[in-house]
Amino acid sequence: MLNFELYNPTNLIFGKGQIEKLATLVPQGAKILMTYGGGSIFKNGIHAQVIENLKGFEIVEFGGIEANPRFETLMKAVAVVKEQKIDFILAVGGGSVIDGTKFISAAAQFDGNPMDILQKRLLIKDLSKVIPFGTILTLPATGSEMNSGSVVTIEATQEKLAFGGSALFPKFSICDPTVIESLPKRQLQNGVVDAYTHVLEQYLTYVHEGFLQDRIAEGILQTLLEVGPKVVENPKDYALASNFMWSCTMALNGLIQKGVPSDWATHMIGHELTALYGIDHARTLAVVGPNLYRVMFETKKGKLAQYGKRIFNLTGTEDEIATQSIEKTVAFFHTMGMDTNLSDYTKEYDKTADFIVKRFEERGWLGLGEKQNITLDKVKSIVEMSY
Ligand code: NAP
Ligand code: FE
Repeated sequence: MLNFELYNPTNLIFGKGQIEKLATLVPQGAKILMTYGGGSIFKNGIHAQVIENLKGFEIVEFGGIEANPRFETLMKAVAVVKEQKIDFILAVGGGSVIDGTKFISAAAQFDGNPMDILQKRLLIKDLSKVIPFGTILTLPATGSEMNSGSVVTIEATQEKLAFGGSALFPKFSICDPTVIESLPKRQLQNGVVDAYTHVLEQYLTYVHEGFLQDRIAEGILQTLLEVGPKVVENPKDYALASNFMWSCTMALNGLIQKGVPSDWATHMIGHELTALYGIDHARTLAVVGPNLYRVMFETKKGKLAQYGKRIFNLTGTEDEIATQSIEKTVAFFHTMGMDTNLSDYTKEYDKTADFIVKRFEERGWLGLGEKQNITLDKVKSIVEMSY
């Protein structure tokens, strides 16, 4: 196993009705900026619950953070934080609102041009230079409620860029599985596939000595395979909802990544597809992931075979099992309502591979993946295979 440090200070409060603890979690006397998205929290009653449970606090609201949050929108919130002398932010939403809040938190006290946080991928480590924040999760998917990463889109340049750092863990996150009752089917499907791919990014590398990490990862995959299709049909079932929500958090709270290699190229290529065509994050992963495993077959086949045997009970030679495990993954994505070709989403796909390769080259991303052997020619093949 590789050496590692495990640091995760987020206080995760999980279960029905936990929002009632809100006033005890927010620092006493804090002036709060409440951030949210396009208004789902008004329809499902979560906004009213927050207000009810924060009586006595001074609250300023900032809504309108869009899916795939934009730098341009978030900078308006940064101005509010400065003007209103905000000392705590409460994000109420899914990954987009939470990721956006992480950016607001980092940008509000940043010396210099906040765009550098994204374009120079600065590590945000100094706790004295961020506005502390907590979250109320309304969409299980990203794990953003218990990690320190974030992805923000710059509209002006059509770039979707990841950043983060140890100062950007939420102070607390309230995760009440009943919030999923109001989610549209498409978002439930997205959540399952995003979380499943998070695990695969950290699991489908090469065979290594992280035996425990592998077993935890496999447990999350099996749970998502079991509950995913059912929770989409029946989000009011608490057993399904709670296991779905906890699987999503566990998929990307850092635990399964410790001491083992990870890939993340599916996400990096997927972000480009969202930036270019506005495709939902999870759906880009369903397009890219299987083709990445096909192109990188020789590198990943040992682990693909382990995945095929342990998760899908496949038998045969290593090559056969590894190949079939990719097809099983595609079949699962189809069960979850995903289209898995780029041409299913846009008819203007023919220059996509060249565009992405050029971008990666400009950024110096010349070798991605656990072995840094996903070179630009491989990226091109992966994207072209998805047409
Ligand atoms: P999202 O973009 O936060 O939300 C998608 C949609 O779901 C929005 O229209 C939202 O509406 C709606 N919604 C949220 N909760 C709802 C509820 N309880 N009932 C009804 N509708 C609800 O989706 P997401 O998948 O959680 O986040 C995707 C973003 O996270 C992407 O930008 C992706 O790149 C990023 N991401 C981050 C990480 C990380 O580690 N930080 C990992 C993977 C992905 P409203 O706007 O009206 O609320
Ligand atoms: Fe993701």
